Amino acid sequence: MSAPSQSIPGKTVLITGCSSGFGEATARLFADRGWNVVATMRTPDTHRLPARENILVTRLDVLDPASIDAAIAAGITRFGAIDVLVNNAGFGLFGVFEATPRPKVMEQFAVNVFGVMDVTRALLPHFRQRQTGVVINVSSGAGIFTLPMISLYCASKFALEGFSEALSYELASVGVTVKIVEPGGVTSTRFGERSEAEAATATDLADYRPFVAAVQETFTGLRAARAGSTAQEVAETIFTAATDGTDQLRYVATQDIKPLVAARRETSEERYMALMRGQFMPR
Ligand code: NAP
Repeated sequence: MSAPSQSIPGKTVLITGCSSGFGEATARLFADRGWNVVATMRTPDTHRLPARENILVTRLDVLDPASIDAAIAAGITRFGAIDVLVNNAGFGLFGVFEATPRPKVMEQFAVNVFGVMDVTRALLPHFRQRQTGVVINVSSGAGIFTLPMISLYCASKFALEGFSEALSYELASVGVTVKIVEPGGVTSTRFGERSEAEAATATDLADYRPFVAAVQETFTGLRAARAGSTAQEVAETIFTAATDGTDQLRYVATQDIKPLVAARRETSEERYMALMRGQFMPR
Protein backbone atom coordinates (compact mmCIF):
# COMPACT_ATOMS: atom_id res chain seq x y z
CA MET A 1 0.00 0.00 0.00
CA SER A 2 1.59 3.31 -1.03
CA ALA A 3 -0.54 5.91 0.72
CA PRO A 4 0.63 9.49 0.23
CA SER A 5 1.05 11.11 3.63
CA GLN A 6 -0.20 14.56 2.67
CA SER A 7 -3.39 15.60 4.42
CA ILE A 8 -6.41 16.10 2.16
CA PRO A 9 -8.75 18.94 3.24
CA GLY A 10 -12.10 17.90 4.62
CA LYS A 11 -13.31 15.71 7.42
CA THR A 12 -12.51 12.04 7.78
CA VAL A 13 -14.70 9.09 8.75
CA LEU A 14 -13.48 5.59 9.63
CA ILE A 15 -16.09 2.88 8.98
CA THR A 16 -15.92 -0.82 9.88
CA GLY A 17 -17.43 -3.56 7.71
CA CYS A 18 -17.26 -1.80 4.32
CA SER A 19 -17.13 -4.95 2.17
CA SER A 20 -20.90 -4.87 1.66
CA GLY A 21 -24.25 -3.58 2.91
CA PHE A 22 -24.55 -0.49 5.09
CA GLY A 23 -20.79 -0.08 5.44
CA GLU A 24 -20.24 0.00 1.69
CA ALA A 25 -23.21 2.34 1.10
CA THR A 26 -22.04 4.65 3.89
CA ALA A 27 -18.47 4.76 2.55
CA ARG A 28 -19.76 5.74 -0.90
CA LEU A 29 -22.11 8.40 0.46
CA PHE A 30 -19.50 10.13 2.65
CA ALA A 31 -16.96 10.02 -0.19
CA ASP A 32 -19.51 11.49 -2.65
CA ARG A 33 -20.11 14.34 -0.19
CA GLY A 34 -16.43 15.26 -0.04
CA TRP A 35 -15.36 13.41 3.09
CA ASN A 36 -12.19 11.41 3.39
CA VAL A 37 -13.16 7.81 4.06
CA VAL A 38 -11.11 5.14 5.81
CA ALA A 39 -13.11 2.20 4.50
CA THR A 40 -12.12 -0.81 6.58
CA MET A 41 -12.95 -4.48 6.07
CA ARG A 42 -11.68 -7.95 6.82
CA THR A 43 -10.62 -8.77 3.25
CA PRO A 44 -9.70 -5.62 1.32
CA ASP A 45 -8.63 -7.60 -1.77
CA THR A 46 -12.22 -8.10 -2.87
CA HIS A 47 -13.83 -4.71 -2.23
CA ARG A 48 -16.21 -2.94 -4.62
CA LEU A 49 -15.44 0.69 -3.73
CA PRO A 50 -14.17 3.06 -6.42
CA ALA A 51 -10.46 3.95 -6.55
CA ARG A 52 -10.55 7.60 -5.40
CA GLU A 53 -8.12 9.91 -3.67
CA ASN A 54 -10.49 10.42 -0.74
CA ILE A 55 -11.06 6.69 -0.07
CA LEU A 56 -8.47 4.59 1.74
CA VAL A 57 -9.40 0.91 1.79
CA THR A 58 -7.58 -0.91 4.55
CA ARG A 59 -7.84 -4.12 6.57
CA LEU A 60 -9.59 -4.15 9.93
CA ASP A 61 -10.98 -7.26 11.59
CA VAL A 62 -12.71 -6.21 14.82
CA LEU A 63 -11.44 -9.46 16.38
CA ASP A 64 -7.79 -8.57 15.65
CA PRO A 65 -6.55 -5.66 17.83
CA ALA A 66 -3.35 -5.22 15.79
CA SER A 67 -5.43 -4.68 12.64
CA ILE A 68 -7.52 -2.05 14.47
CA ASP A 69 -4.42 -0.08 15.50
CA ALA A 70 -2.91 -0.40 12.01
CA ALA A 71 -6.09 0.83 10.28
CA ILE A 72 -6.39 3.86 12.58
CA ALA A 73 -2.70 4.71 12.09
CA ALA A 74 -3.04 4.35 8.30
CA GLY A 75 -6.10 6.65 8.29
CA ILE A 76 -4.39 9.35 10.33
CA THR A 77 -1.23 9.13 8.22
CA ARG A 78 -3.20 9.45 5.00
CA PHE A 79 -5.73 12.12 5.99
CA GLY A 80 -4.18 13.88 9.01
CA ALA A 81 -6.95 13.10 11.52
CA ILE A 82 -10.13 11.08 12.05
CA ASP A 83 -13.31 12.97 12.97
CA VAL A 84 -16.02 10.28 13.00
CA LEU A 85 -16.03 6.56 13.77
CA VAL A 86 -18.83 4.35 12.43
CA ASN A 87 -18.95 0.98 14.19
CA ASN A 88 -20.98 -0.88 11.58
CA ALA A 89 -19.43 -4.38 11.35
CA GLY A 90 -21.70 -7.04 12.77
CA PHE A 91 -23.76 -10.12 12.04
CA GLY A 92 -26.95 -11.82 13.19
CA LEU A 93 -26.99 -15.19 14.91
CA PHE A 94 -30.39 -16.67 14.12
CA GLY A 95 -31.88 -19.80 15.65
CA VAL A 96 -33.24 -21.24 18.87
CA PHE A 97 -31.00 -20.37 21.83
CA GLU A 98 -30.81 -23.89 23.22
CA ALA A 99 -29.66 -25.21 19.85
CA THR A 100 -26.86 -22.67 19.43
CA PRO A 101 -23.30 -23.86 20.15
CA ARG A 102 -21.49 -21.90 22.89
CA PRO A 103 -18.60 -20.78 20.61
CA LYS A 104 -21.20 -19.11 18.35
CA VAL A 105 -22.69 -17.28 21.34
CA MET A 106 -19.22 -16.01 22.21
CA GLU A 107 -18.55 -14.96 18.60
CA GLN A 108 -21.82 -12.99 18.45
CA PHE A 109 -20.71 -10.89 21.40
CA ALA A 110 -17.07 -10.79 20.27
CA VAL A 111 -18.01 -9.10 16.98
CA ASN A 112 -21.13 -7.07 17.83
CA VAL A 113 -20.12 -5.88 21.32
CA PHE A 114 -16.45 -6.41 22.22
CA GLY A 115 -15.35 -5.56 18.68
CA VAL A 116 -17.13 -2.20 18.93
CA MET A 117 -15.53 -1.59 22.31
CA ASP A 118 -12.04 -2.43 21.01
CA VAL A 119 -12.30 -0.18 17.95
CA THR A 120 -13.76 2.66 20.04
CA ARG A 121 -11.12 2.39 22.75
CA ALA A 122 -8.34 2.36 20.15
CA LEU A 123 -9.59 5.61 18.61
CA LEU A 124 -10.49 7.46 21.82
CA PRO A 125 -6.99 8.78 22.65
CA HIS A 126 -7.00 10.53 19.22
CA PHE A 127 -10.47 12.02 19.83
CA ARG A 128 -9.57 13.02 23.39
CA GLN A 129 -6.36 14.70 22.30
CA ARG A 130 -8.36 16.75 19.78
CA GLN A 131 -11.29 17.28 22.23
CA THR A 132 -13.68 16.36 19.43
CA GLY A 133 -15.09 13.33 17.66
CA VAL A 134 -18.31 11.43 16.95
CA VAL A 135 -18.81 7.70 17.61
CA ILE A 136 -21.74 6.20 15.71
CA ASN A 137 -22.75 2.67 16.66
CA VAL A 138 -24.99 0.73 14.28
CA SER A 139 -27.53 -1.08 16.42
CA SER A 140 -30.84 -2.50 15.15
CA GLY A 141 -34.55 -2.68 15.79
CA ALA A 142 -33.35 -5.81 17.62
CA GLY A 143 -31.67 -3.44 20.09
CA ILE A 144 -35.04 -1.84 20.90
CA PHE A 145 -37.54 -4.72 20.88
CA THR A 146 -36.97 -8.47 20.77
CA LEU A 147 -38.12 -11.22 18.46
CA PRO A 148 -37.96 -14.99 18.93
CA MET A 149 -35.21 -16.91 17.14
CA ILE A 150 -32.75 -14.03 17.44
CA SER A 151 -32.27 -13.93 21.19
CA LEU A 152 -28.48 -13.78 20.92
CA TYR A 153 -28.50 -11.06 18.26
CA CYS A 154 -30.98 -9.08 20.40
CA ALA A 155 -28.80 -9.61 23.47
CA SER A 156 -25.77 -8.27 21.59
CA LYS A 157 -27.60 -5.19 20.29
CA PHE A 158 -29.24 -4.48 23.68
CA ALA A 159 -25.73 -4.65 25.15
CA LEU A 160 -24.52 -2.26 22.45
CA GLU A 161 -27.37 0.15 23.21
CA GLY A 162 -26.66 0.14 26.96
CA PHE A 163 -22.94 0.54 26.41
CA SER A 164 -23.42 3.41 23.96
CA GLU A 165 -25.89 5.31 26.15
CA ALA A 166 -23.71 5.01 29.27
CA LEU A 167 -20.58 5.88 27.31
CA SER A 168 -22.22 9.02 25.94
CA TYR A 169 -22.11 10.68 29.39
CA GLU A 170 -18.43 9.89 29.88
CA LEU A 171 -17.36 11.03 26.44
CA ALA A 172 -19.38 14.26 26.53
CA SER A 173 -16.93 15.36 29.25
CA VAL A 174 -14.06 15.18 26.73
CA GLY A 175 -15.90 16.71 23.76
CA VAL A 176 -16.88 13.43 22.05
CA THR A 177 -20.46 12.65 20.99
CA VAL A 178 -21.96 9.14 20.88
CA LYS A 179 -24.82 8.26 18.54
CA ILE A 180 -26.82 5.08 17.94
CA VAL A 181 -28.32 4.33 14.51
CA GLU A 182 -31.15 1.78 14.52
CA PRO A 183 -32.02 0.20 11.16
CA GLY A 184 -34.88 -2.20 10.57
CA GLY A 185 -34.87 -5.05 8.08
CA VAL A 186 -32.95 -4.38 4.87
CA THR A 187 -32.78 -7.38 2.57
CA SER A 188 -30.35 -5.99 -0.03
CA THR A 189 -27.28 -6.47 2.21
CA ARG A 190 -25.43 -9.72 2.93
CA PHE A 191 -26.93 -9.83 6.42
CA GLY A 192 -29.56 -12.50 5.58
CA GLU A 193 -27.03 -14.67 3.77
CA ARG A 194 -24.68 -14.73 6.77
CA SER A 195 -27.58 -15.27 9.22
CA GLU A 196 -28.71 -18.31 7.25
CA ALA A 197 -25.20 -19.73 7.23
CA GLU A 198 -24.93 -19.16 10.99
CA ALA A 199 -28.33 -20.78 11.64
CA ALA A 200 -27.09 -23.89 9.86
CA THR A 201 -24.58 -24.46 12.69
CA ALA A 202 -27.41 -25.00 15.21
CA THR A 203 -28.53 -28.39 16.48
CA ASP A 204 -31.95 -29.56 15.30
CA LEU A 205 -34.11 -29.90 18.43
CA ALA A 206 -37.38 -31.55 17.47
CA ASP A 207 -39.44 -30.07 20.33
CA TYR A 208 -39.08 -26.57 18.87
CA ARG A 209 -39.98 -27.47 15.29
CA PRO A 210 -43.68 -26.45 15.37
CA PHE A 211 -42.79 -23.14 17.08
CA VAL A 212 -39.98 -22.44 14.59
CA ALA A 213 -42.31 -23.14 11.66
CA ALA A 214 -44.99 -20.79 13.07
CA VAL A 215 -42.48 -18.01 13.75
CA GLN A 216 -40.98 -18.33 10.28
CA GLU A 217 -44.45 -17.91 8.81
CA THR A 218 -45.02 -14.77 10.89
CA PHE A 219 -41.64 -13.41 9.80
CA THR A 220 -42.43 -14.05 6.13
CA GLY A 221 -45.66 -12.08 6.50
CA LEU A 222 -43.93 -9.22 8.33
CA ARG A 223 -41.15 -9.05 5.71
CA ALA A 224 -43.65 -8.90 2.85
CA ALA A 225 -45.71 -6.20 4.58
CA ARG A 226 -42.69 -4.06 5.37
CA ALA A 227 -40.36 -4.59 2.41
CA GLY A 228 -38.65 -1.61 0.85
CA SER A 229 -36.11 -0.29 3.34
CA THR A 230 -32.74 0.37 1.73
CA ALA A 231 -29.07 0.55 2.65
CA GLN A 232 -29.12 4.07 1.20
CA GLU A 233 -31.63 5.18 3.87
CA VAL A 234 -29.38 3.79 6.57
CA ALA A 235 -26.32 5.52 5.06
CA GLU A 236 -28.26 8.82 4.96
CA THR A 237 -29.19 8.43 8.62
CA ILE A 238 -25.57 7.74 9.55
CA PHE A 239 -24.55 10.85 7.59
CA THR A 240 -27.16 12.93 9.44
CA ALA A 241 -25.96 11.58 12.78
CA ALA A 242 -22.38 12.50 11.85
CA THR A 243 -23.13 16.00 10.67
CA ASP A 244 -26.18 17.43 12.48
CA GLY A 245 -24.06 18.90 15.29
CA THR A 246 -26.59 17.85 17.95
CA ASP A 247 -26.28 15.52 20.91
CA GLN A 248 -29.28 13.44 19.77
CA LEU A 249 -28.44 9.90 20.92
CA ARG A 250 -30.75 7.64 18.88
CA TYR A 251 -31.78 7.65 15.21
CA VAL A 252 -34.33 5.16 13.89
CA ALA A 253 -33.08 4.62 10.33
CA THR A 254 -35.95 2.92 8.46
CA GLN A 255 -39.73 3.25 8.39
CA ASP A 256 -40.53 -0.46 8.70
CA ILE A 257 -39.78 -0.68 12.43
CA LYS A 258 -41.45 2.57 13.49
CA PRO A 259 -44.71 0.91 14.68
CA LEU A 260 -42.80 -1.56 16.87
CA VAL A 261 -40.47 1.17 18.14
CA ALA A 262 -43.54 3.23 19.09
CA ALA A 263 -45.11 0.22 20.80
CA ARG A 264 -41.95 -0.32 22.83
CA ARG A 265 -41.21 3.29 23.68
CA GLU A 266 -44.59 4.98 23.77
CA THR A 267 -47.00 2.44 25.28
CA SER A 268 -47.05 0.62 28.60
CA GLU A 269 -45.11 -2.56 29.26
CA GLU A 270 -48.42 -4.46 29.48
CA ARG A 271 -49.67 -3.27 26.09
CA TYR A 272 -46.32 -3.89 24.44
CA MET A 273 -46.01 -7.44 25.80
CA ALA A 274 -49.61 -8.25 24.86
CA LEU A 275 -48.91 -7.09 21.29
CA MET A 276 -45.75 -9.19 20.99
CA ARG A 277 -47.17 -12.30 22.68
CA GLY A 278 -50.15 -12.07 20.36
CA GLN A 279 -47.79 -12.49 17.42
CA PHE A 280 -45.28 -14.98 18.73
CA MET A 281 -46.63 -17.06 21.61
CA PRO A 282 -48.15 -20.46 20.85
CA ARG A 283 -51.96 -20.25 20.87
P1 NAP B 1 -23.58 -7.20 5.72
O1 NAP B 1 -23.80 -6.82 4.30
O2 NAP B 1 -23.43 -8.65 6.06
O3 NAP B 1 -22.33 -6.39 6.28
C1 NAP B 1 -21.72 -6.71 7.50
C2 NAP B 1 -20.30 -6.24 7.47
O4 NAP B 1 -19.70 -6.56 8.73
C3 NAP B 1 -19.48 -6.93 6.38
O5 NAP B 1 -18.61 -5.99 5.81
C4 NAP B 1 -18.70 -7.98 7.19
O6 NAP B 1 -17.47 -8.33 6.59
C5 NAP B 1 -18.47 -7.18 8.44
N1 NAP B 1 -17.93 -8.01 9.51
C6 NAP B 1 -18.44 -9.14 10.03
N2 NAP B 1 -17.60 -9.63 10.97
C7 NAP B 1 -16.54 -8.79 11.01
C8 NAP B 1 -15.33 -8.72 11.74
N3 NAP B 1 -14.99 -9.68 12.63
N4 NAP B 1 -14.49 -7.68 11.55
C9 NAP B 1 -14.78 -6.73 10.65
N5 NAP B 1 -15.88 -6.74 9.89
C10 NAP B 1 -16.75 -7.76 10.08
O7 NAP B 1 -24.80 -6.73 6.62
P2 NAP B 1 -25.43 -5.25 6.90
O8 NAP B 1 -26.90 -5.45 6.84
O9 NAP B 1 -24.78 -4.22 6.08
O10 NAP B 1 -25.04 -5.09 8.44
C11 NAP B 1 -24.28 -3.99 8.93
C12 NAP B 1 -24.70 -3.70 10.37
O11 NAP B 1 -26.08 -3.38 10.38
C13 NAP B 1 -24.53 -4.87 11.33
O12 NAP B 1 -24.06 -4.38 12.57
C14 NAP B 1 -25.95 -5.41 11.49
O13 NAP B 1 -26.14 -6.03 12.75
C15 NAP B 1 -26.76 -4.13 11.37
N6 NAP B 1 -28.17 -4.28 10.96
C16 NAP B 1 -28.53 -4.90 9.79
C17 NAP B 1 -29.87 -4.99 9.45
C18 NAP B 1 -30.36 -5.61 8.16
O14 NAP B 1 -31.54 -5.99 8.08
N7 NAP B 1 -29.58 -5.73 7.14
C19 NAP B 1 -30.85 -4.45 10.31
C20 NAP B 1 -30.45 -3.84 11.48
C21 NAP B 1 -29.11 -3.74 11.79
P3 NAP B 1 -17.23 -9.67 5.75
O15 NAP B 1 -17.70 -9.35 4.35
O16 NAP B 1 -15.77 -9.89 5.84
O17 NAP B 1 -18.04 -10.75 6.41
